Amino acid sequence: MKLGIVGLPNVGKSTLFNALTKAGAEAANYPFATIEPNIGVVNVPDDRLKVLAEISNSEKILYTTIEFFDIAGLVKGASKGEGLGNQFLSNIREVDAIVHVVRCFDDDNIIHVDGSVDPIRDIENINLELIFSDLEQIEKRLSKAEKQAKSDKKLLPEVELLRKLLNILESGKPARSLELNEEEKKLIKNFSLLSYKPIIYVANVSEDDIADDGKNNEYVQKVREFASDQGDEVIVISAEIESEIQSLDDDEKVLFLEELGLDRSGLDKLIQSSYKLLGLISFLTTGPMETRAWTIVRGTKAPQAAGKIHSDIERGFIKADTISFNELANSGSMAAAREKGLIRSEGKDYIMQDGDVVLFKFNV
Ligand code: GDP
Repeated sequence: MKLGIVGLPNVGKSTLFNALTKAGAEAANYPFATIEPNIGVVNVPDDRLKVLAEISNSEKILYTTIEFFDIAGLVKGASKGEGLGNQFLSNIREVDAIVHVVRCFDDDNIIHVDGSVDPIRDIENINLELIFSDLEQIEKRLSKAEKQAKSDKKLLPEVELLRKLLNILESGKPARSLELNEEEKKLIKNFSLLSYKPIIYVANVSEDDIADDGKNNEYVQKVREFASDQGDEVIVISAEIESEIQSLDDDEKVLFLEELGLDRSGLDKLIQSSYKLLGLISFLTTGPMETRAWTIVRGTKAPQAAGKIHSDIERGFIKADTISFNELANSGSMAAAREKGLIRSEGKDYIMQDGDVVLFKFNV
């Protein structure tokens, strides 16, 4: 799963990306991350793993990860192929969701490309490039589909959806603001629209504004209003502070966060929200060798979850011995949980839940 970091020049994207890379997962486990300088692989923070590792006396803990992709180079007119515009748009096409960094700090020493700090103007500038690019694609598709639908009535639902999309995009709104039925949700996936991708706004603020989560920062208030109108989320971060935090060791980190009045870092908030935005959950495995979190899409059934570990386990799937993390943690040990009859034996139709601790049984 890959998230793309976008934003105008000088808003703090590289600073944020550097913080993410510093926080990066151990490179040895993810060799590709060191080859691609613009991809940062980060652990998804999960406090449950430490508890489980203690219960099982595990040698190591392996977090699950997500990837952030630094997408630089947006300029006005990108959708018309200006600057590195086309490259920029095709990079966005490859990601599952967008992290849009918006400048919400004043600093006369740092030039704003449009001359002043105005987060809503900035957001609209970028969103419009995505909308223009989608519009062009939808117009082409629509005229083709309309012709084909004359002889093939099966295409009528597609034509209808394309017309709705055309309307909403022409009104300057992103495709994701359109309400869709189940059939339309399936159809729209074929169009790979940029403005349909889920989005999180990151309001980049100065150090003074993080303790109260930007409540006294007017720019942040405006971004919050804008985002909530479209049903999107805002995370308040100081990219510079995050970068400093990531240079500290674990004990220093806790102290520094306390001084700032925070219970967790902005990066942790961003990573956890991104995970949720993508509809992802984790199931957990634990033993003396390792305790580990695995990523699945919400709604995944037990055999396909097993397939994340190894395709052989999916193929030979018999059952999944399952207990929720909370029940196991409360019991104190696997043996105690078993005695209480808390370990369920789930079959191939079981839909995995977030925090399920699982042992798969399978035929080899
Ligand atoms: P990018 O062009 O969006 O990648 O922006 P950069 O990350 O390179 O940041 C542009 C400039 O703004 C750099 O000089 C950063 O040090 C500075 N900067 C980034 N975040 C903050 C912040 O929260 N407050 C202030 N005052 N400066 C920041």
